[in-house]
Amino acid sequence: MTDTTKIYVAGEWTEGTGDERFDVISPVTGEHLATVPIASHVDIDRAVAAAREAQDEYRHWSPFERAELCYRIGAAMTEMAEAVARLQTLEQGMPYHGESLYYIETSNEYFINAAEDIKRMHGEVIPASDRNKRMFTFRRPVGVWAAITPWNFPVTIPLEYLGRGLATGNAVIVKPPEFTSLALLKLTEALDAAEVPKGLVSIIPGGAEVGDALVTHDGIDGVGFTGSSATGRKILSRMGIKRSIMEMSGNGPTIVTDDANVEAAALAAVYGAYLNAGQICCSTERVIVVDDVHDEFVEHVLKAAETVRLGDPFDESTNMGPLNNEMTAAKMDRHLTDIANRGGIVLLGGGRADGFPTDLYYQFTVVDRVPEDSLLSQEESFGPVVPILSASDDDQAVAVANRTNLGLQAAVFTSSLQRAFWYADRIKSGTVVVNDSTNFWETFAPFGGAAGTDTGWGRGSIEELTDTQTVVLDLANVR
Ligand code: NAD
Repeated sequence: MTDTTKIYVAGEWTEGTGDERFDVISPVTGEHLATVPIASHVDIDRAVAAAREAQDEYRHWSPFERAELCYRIGAAMTEMAEAVARLQTLEQGMPYHGESLYYIETSNEYFINAAEDIKRMHGEVIPASDRNKRMFTFRRPVGVWAAITPWNFPVTIPLEYLGRGLATGNAVIVKPPEFTSLALLKLTEALDAAEVPKGLVSIIPGGAEVGDALVTHDGIDGVGFTGSSATGRKILSRMGIKRSIMEMSGNGPTIVTDDANVEAAALAAVYGAYLNAGQICCSTERVIVVDDVHDEFVEHVLKAAETVRLGDPFDESTNMGPLNNEMTAAKMDRHLTDIANRGGIVLLGGGRADGFPTDLYYQFTVVDRVPEDSLLSQEESFGPVVPILSASDDDQAVAVANRTNLGLQAAVFTSSLQRAFWYADRIKSGTVVVNDSTNFWETFAPFGGAAGTDTGWGRGSIEELTDTQTVVLDLANVR
């Protein structure tokens, strides 16, 4: 495939009006996959104007009518799963059988769950101090959202915004990264099949410039951002007074206490590091192991690591593909050079793997005795690595856990209920998973960071894409 892909602006497939094009190169094969037009300011203005016009009509659809639309989209998407999943693997690198196909086959959940929620989302009747007054609240759509999304889940993250956004009566303009937009554009054909009103959705790939044009646009009412904390900070300083959902970086941790099922903890830590080659916001980032069980844990981790198969992501036996891009691979290189200088012990892997079509295939890596001041510990690595840190007891483990500015999702392994809650009460992160990987999530569960860290405020429910409107009725002042 080496053609120019069309982008989806204002309900039409177009090559756009700009001169800029981006050549998408597969991290899997190194081949040129397609050329993607980058939206110009004219395209962006057109997408925003069409979204405003379409939403002005769409906001009057009843919740049941919107739910019906969501069901139609979900059904149309399911039919395209294999083709979309193949593209996703080619452009992103994740294994086709174990990951990509599953994520796309289940992506209709974003529409089905939102459709079910919207039918039950209701307002309140508020008691008034004046006996002649009656007060009600209604949930109204915010208007037009810009969804700025990352490359690690090129389809499912945009769908989180599209499913909830459409169910709640909003228009959504998605800006995926220019290098991972092909699968999403393909799946967008399902919107046409489901007869989504023209203009309600646009998909305009691009980089920082297109993202900035959207978040600063007067015609945008809400910004949904999923990406790094560094970019999120820039967006917040630029977007002005707009509603926002901000989902940003994470840095573990996984804590292994002295009463843990150590084997289960090791399996979870390894799984959390190889799934999507560690390129997940809630991947294994730091494993804090209490000294008493350190040696046992290391032994189990090395055993579990034997199950990791780096290779061609279309091969059924592969469970880890290449990294998506050079920036991420270079960050892993930097973290591993730094750890070598700080006395960390590389037990497995430690660099790029030879003999593959691109330089982005990275060895599964285990590092022991990781000092807290190392880059591996302090930054989100976003690669296939299990960094093992030590703690003498629970108090020290929780202190180490909280010395991060990225408290997104934590895991604790313990056989004691009291200890589980002791940790949950103290760890500063949006989610604490007890006895499973940090990589556990459900598409409908709240997901976001903790205040005081730089991970953002994430999403809880579809209400976040709505405004509360209060209607006050006076029963006395009538003719
Ligand atoms: P990124 O911040 O580099 O890019 C994210 C998006 O922002 C892209 O579409 C990019 O083009 C756009 N962008 C970049 N600069 C911009 C600007 N100045 N103005 C507007 N838009 C701009 O992040 P990434 O490397 O694509 O994604 C990886 C990061 O995303 C990791 O830190 C990961 O933890 C995080 N992430 C978080 C979640 C979550 O739910 N919390 C989920 C997935 C990924």
